[in-house]
Amino acid sequence: MLPETRQLLKITDHTADKLHKLHLNSAWDLVLHLPLRYEDETQIVPIAHAPLGEPCQVEGEVVHLHVQYQPRKQLIARIQDESGAILNLRFIHFYPNHVKQLAEGQMVRALGEIKHGYHGDEMIHPKIKSPDKTDLAQSLTPIYPTTQGLNQPILRKAINQALETVDLQEVLPSDILHDLRLPELAESLRVLHNPPPHLDMKTLANGAFPAWQRLKFDELLAQQLSMRLAKQRRLSGSAKPLRGTGELSAKLLAKLPFTLTAAQQRVLDEIAADLAQTTPMHRLLQGDVGSGKTIVAALSALVALESEGDFQAAIMAPTEILAEQHYVKFKQWFEPLGIDVAWLSGSLKKKEKDQVKTQLANGTIRLAVGTHALFQDDVVFHNLGLVMVDEQHRFGVAQRLALKNKGQDVHQLMMSATPIPRTLAMSFFADLDVSVIDELPPNRTPIQTKLIHSARRSQVEGFVLNTCQKGQQAYWVCPLIEESETLQLQTATETLENLQAALPSLNIGLVHGRMKAAEKAAVMAEFIAGKINVLVATTVIEVGVDVPNASLMVIEHAERMGLSQLHQLRGRVGRGVAASSCLLMFTEPLSQMARERLKVIYENTDGFEIARHDLNLRGPGEFLGARQSGAPMLRFADLQNDLILLEKAREIAPKLIAQHPEVVAQHLQRWLGSREGFLAA
Ligand code: ADP
Ligand code: MG
Repeated sequence: MLPETRQLLKITDHTADKLHKLHLNSAWDLVLHLPLRYEDETQIVPIAHAPLGEPCQVEGEVVHLHVQYQPRKQLIARIQDESGAILNLRFIHFYPNHVKQLAEGQMVRALGEIKHGYHGDEMIHPKIKSPDKTDLAQSLTPIYPTTQGLNQPILRKAINQALETVDLQEVLPSDILHDLRLPELAESLRVLHNPPPHLDMKTLANGAFPAWQRLKFDELLAQQLSMRLAKQRRLSGSAKPLRGTGELSAKLLAKLPFTLTAAQQRVLDEIAADLAQTTPMHRLLQGDVGSGKTIVAALSALVALESEGDFQAAIMAPTEILAEQHYVKFKQWFEPLGIDVAWLSGSLKKKEKDQVKTQLANGTIRLAVGTHALFQDDVVFHNLGLVMVDEQHRFGVAQRLALKNKGQDVHQLMMSATPIPRTLAMSFFADLDVSVIDELPPNRTPIQTKLIHSARRSQVEGFVLNTCQKGQQAYWVCPLIEESETLQLQTATETLENLQAALPSLNIGLVHGRMKAAEKAAVMAEFIAGKINVLVATTVIEVGVDVPNASLMVIEHAERMGLSQLHQLRGRVGRGVAASSCLLMFTEPLSQMARERLKVIYENTDGFEIARHDLNLRGPGEFLGARQSGAPMLRFADLQNDLILLEKAREIAPKLIAQHPEVVAQHLQRWLGSREGFLAA
């Protein structure tokens, strides 16, 4: 935050630091930091009539206070009001101040949710006040997203200061607002930050409330404007056209044990057409798991390498295992053509890294495979022509920005097996061309999916034994434990030990996320070589791993996993000629959502179809969430409910750019401020 702004907003250095953590660096950032929800401190409810399970405020006299030590230290205050009813206030963390404020005989006002407790009704960690110090609030209290060490009152004060200081003048043309029936921005912001007394919780929580509609529209408009401008910039940029001679590609194709599918050929043509242009390519290659994206990437790289001008190409993968696998494959494909392949990952020794970096910088190596280590600041390319990103949805925004900075005018190919529904992709990512491989290579035997209760584990083990006795291999995926990496590790080790005990004749290996890259690679190499029969794995094998001899996938606690994760995991088998199976083990009770997910994965094999169901079950917000697609998350709009607003924004954005460039600049300045880089990434 600029010192002037800090002064203007009367914010301390400490607060400014905390605000920075929330990406709030200007007065406008603060003004657009909108409440997550509201609290009702306008009324006091008699304890006897207080609702269960929803926030309410009560007031009473402390009739008993004690510290309890079992099962852990906690402070319990019992209060009673005029209704005669009694309520316990329970604090698991408490300070001397609490004890003082809750001394017997004190009046106290508490805001929280009432639940049935073991010793009667209680509020856990309510917000408490001394009633005589505070009059009842006149309107609902906004609650903002915050960060540790920045409390609501300070944040609220900063936001209200900002509201006073910024210029809230309307910038959108009034005919547009009129057509869309949207209120003015200033009014909308004031209402949301300081709701007038007559507005109740229900009205404010409803996304259709006009003030929210206005904010959502503005956000979507900013996103569309920013994407369109990024596209204009890209189209006006100049990339080196890459036109392959086809000579090396022909040699590679002749050596492959298969011919390209029609879909692979088509997307390759689309890519080649882009590469031949003088504007940088920005293309997303979507294809279901196992559809053969890797060879398309290899042939695209060849276009760059064959083309006149000593161009380099690089492919980046999100995990060491996957990157290493690409490296092995690329070496196998490219070395016979006389092309060296460089390997760069974070786990290389410094000396090895330095050597590779020198070779990339002086251009002696023209093809590089690696993890995001490839795009660190200190990696310099001699003449980078094409960058490819596998499983791009797995990369964070920061990593993609680093990549972008590496090659402003470099052709980019993103690859993903997580299908964003095409129309959504096109309307949301205005600056992305999409190619789809919509066909699997022939002669795949379909994967048989079975749902099996975890009580039948020994049967599953028998199945594994059978498979391995036929000379095939199996994956065994451990239960996902999101809360704790340590627990996850423990579970993985236990799973390994149990399986070893149950199947002593088999060689069983283990890979998990905590292993060093070299250890992982060693285990994977043994599995690929067939020396390991069963590979116990955490979800680190989720993406991209390709071992055609593996024909059985067992997934424990499948009910804990998401649909795209299950689909990715299942896609690790069914890559060879043997008939493959996927056994989904589940444990009851199943939530409604888990039940539906298992049904979808059981009934469908097509990734796009599964994605469509996923969309219905979860809503597109999650598809476009930072993790899934790497897209910046929308803060206010949600694409499930606000598709109409998105369409409007899409319609209006180009008109504004053409007719009101000054409005565009102002709108983006307000909305993106310090964040613009992120939205364009
Ligand atoms: P993904 O799209 O999931 O990255 P891969 O590129 O790993 O898929 O390909 C999956 C498997 O299919 C690999 O073993 C690959 O060699 C094989 N494959 C790719 N294209 C074809 C094809 N046209 N015909 C037969 N097999 C193919
Ligand atoms: Mg792949």
